Amino acid sequence: MGLSKVVFLDRDGTLNKDEGYVHKVEDFELLPGVIQGLQLLKQDYLFFIITNQSGIGKKYYTEEEFREFNNRVILELKKNDIEIENTYFCPHVVEDNCVCRKPKTKFIQEITSIYDIDLENSWMIGDHPSDILFGMNAGCKTIYLLTGHGEKHFEELDENNIKPTYIARSFMEAAHFIKDLNSPNTYKKSSK
Ligand SMILES: [Mg+2]
Ligand SMILES: [Zn+2]
Repeated sequence: MGLSKVVFLDRDGTLNKDEGYVHKVEDFELLPGVIQGLQLLKQDYLFFIITNQSGIGKKYYTEEEFREFNNRVILELKKNDIEIENTYFCPHVVEDNCVCRKPKTKFIQEITSIYDIDLENSWMIGDHPSDILFGMNAGCKTIYLLTGHGEKHFEELDENNIKPTYIARSFMEAAHFIKDLNSPNTYKKSSK
């Protein structure tokens, strides 16, 4: 068997709408183009969700509430024939200085201990600079999304010398960029 390629996915603000610490099932809403984008990629890539959930550590919500919400995300994707291999979440707050919070790559190490993955040709997609740093630390290519909290944290990329492979305005644009990388004339680089 050859190596698998992966798209590592942040969850909140990347797949689903996030007004901040989203955790109530009734607030669940996928962002536009997520289904179509994942469908575009699913033949060539495995999907994992990797999400920082400091809301658990801050006691804004429980791990059980997190799981309930996450199951809702997985179910909605499944209904559309999209399989998430697994979800990895960090429940800690920054001050815990844990080993699993993005941009630390413990979860990637866990995944690569189970799956044979071509990291160089894998991607991390997220709406926070730490997602990009996480992907860079893991040796993946990265896409910074301007959805979710992406606009708000945009300046932090340059300030911290964090360089995404691409910056996309929507999940669909990100998916197209990955899909069409071998025909770069199809999509112009973002002007930002
Ligand atoms: Mg996010
Ligand atoms: Zn952690």
